[in-house]
Amino acid sequence: MKTPLLSKSRFITGQQCHLRLWYQCHHPDLASETSLRQQAIFDVGHEIGELATRLYPGGLFVKEGYLHHEEAVQTTLKVMENPEISAIFEAAFLYDGIRIRVDILERVENGKWNLIEVKSSTSVKEVHFPDVAVQWYVLRGAGLEIDKAFLMHVNNQYVYDGKKLDLKSLFISLDVSEEVIAMQERLPSMISELKEMLSDSDPPDISPSRHCSKPYECEFYDHCKKRMPENWIIDLSGITQAKLNDLAVMGINDIRDIPSTTYLTDLQDRIRTSVLDNKEYISEELERELTDVEYPIHFLDFETIGTVIPRYAGTRPYQSIPFQWSNHILQKDGVLEHHEYLCDEDKDPREECAFKLLSVLGIKGTIFIYTTYETQIIKALSEHLPEYQKQLLDILDRLKDLCDIIKRYYYHPEFHGSFSLKSVLPVLVPGMDYQSMEIQEGGEASLEYLRMLDPSTSPEEREKIRTALLNYCNQDTLAMVRIRDVLRCQVRR
Ligand code: SF4
Repeated sequence: MKTPLLSKSRFITGQQCHLRLWYQCHHPDLASETSLRQQAIFDVGHEIGELATRLYPGGLFVKEGYLHHEEAVQTTLKVMENPEISAIFEAAFLYDGIRIRVDILERVENGKWNLIEVKSSTSVKEVHFPDVAVQWYVLRGAGLEIDKAFLMHVNNQYVYDGKKLDLKSLFISLDVSEEVIAMQERLPSMISELKEMLSDSDPPDISPSRHCSKPYECEFYDHCKKRMPENWIIDLSGITQAKLNDLAVMGINDIRDIPSTTYLTDLQDRIRTSVLDNKEYISEELERELTDVEYPIHFLDFETIGTVIPRYAGTRPYQSIPFQWSNHILQKDGVLEHHEYLCDEDKDPREECAFKLLSVLGIKGTIFIYTTYETQIIKALSEHLPEYQKQLLDILDRLKDLCDIIKRYYYHPEFHGSFSLKSVLPVLVPGMDYQSMEIQEGGEASLEYLRMLDPSTSPEEREKIRTALLNYCNQDTLAMVRIRDVLRCQVRR
């Protein structure tokens, strides 16, 4: 079996999990399909990478794609000989069996170069250091003299003026040379270890755990999870890696095998008891929490966009901008009304969104939300709209988090440790879920909304997206109405 070549991204993958790298090289067919959300993350990375190159106007792109690495290396070497070219984008190198493409290689004095890695994150993270360190290793090995290494990331304090994107303010560069140099000594052994592991025809013996989503979500998770029991210990909400390790040492993967002497938090203990008894946990407090309300009862949900490049004047990178809400209103006599808002135009929707919302929420009635996300959105709106500030802040006193109530006072073994609306709804309200919906989660709603605003989207497609968005947000609030109904019935049984 031929040992696959390493690359910068494979090296990073290997730092997260050897098995993930082995699968990527030998069994990519086992991966789940790339989700829209993951694709959006890749797209943002490319967009930001491309924008950063505009800070180096004398630079040149190495155009050869990733499948033509050798040609890309030749082009890079040729471009390096031209002193007129002040920076090379996607410069390609190969050393010690590792292929890299450098985001920005900046020519500095005395034949030296600066290595610049561009990230779409808003801060430098631990995982970024090996990423730059392996590039430094390859560049030095290929004979380049590197002056400094920088991590360039997005500045989330930059405020867009609505006219021209100020790239110098949008990005922050951090000199990470010291950290990267400090890692050089360890790199040869890290690389050899990966090469040896990849040359083995058998996959490394690694069980899924917390590392499967940190720092990146692994595309083989669904495959690896099949090896784990139905009541896997990872379902113990909030379980720490240390506790998982302790249980792994004891050979325990199933919640039912956890010794009664093992310390668990109250919530984890409830989950274990519920799994062991194979029945729901219902606290005596549940009824009080669900019925301690003032009519009319509202059920509110927002959808937001948070683009890396600020879209509207006065907004920052990744700032959440609400473009849609749904509100179901339950009157005391049982009548259920529905109100909704969706901004159809490509404009800052916040003022219209808040104005219409305030008129529907009125000044009376409990407002159920699911998680505290709605609280954050209302607070942000109140800061942005001083004329509505008091009314918006008054809403906060009326909010009641249904997710928190469920977390504290109810558990069903089929939740499998997740209290998200998407997990809870089909268990409590069979027949009502998100599987058959055009839009199935909030991230998709944001992407679809941006597609709806795109001038290249046809009017028919726009109308289709609009309907899907309205259906999705409506489902979120109707789900809360139904869940509350079902839980009240459970209490009365
Ligand atoms: S799911 Fe986890 S254990 Fe399996 S390959 Fe991915 S990171 Fe490794």
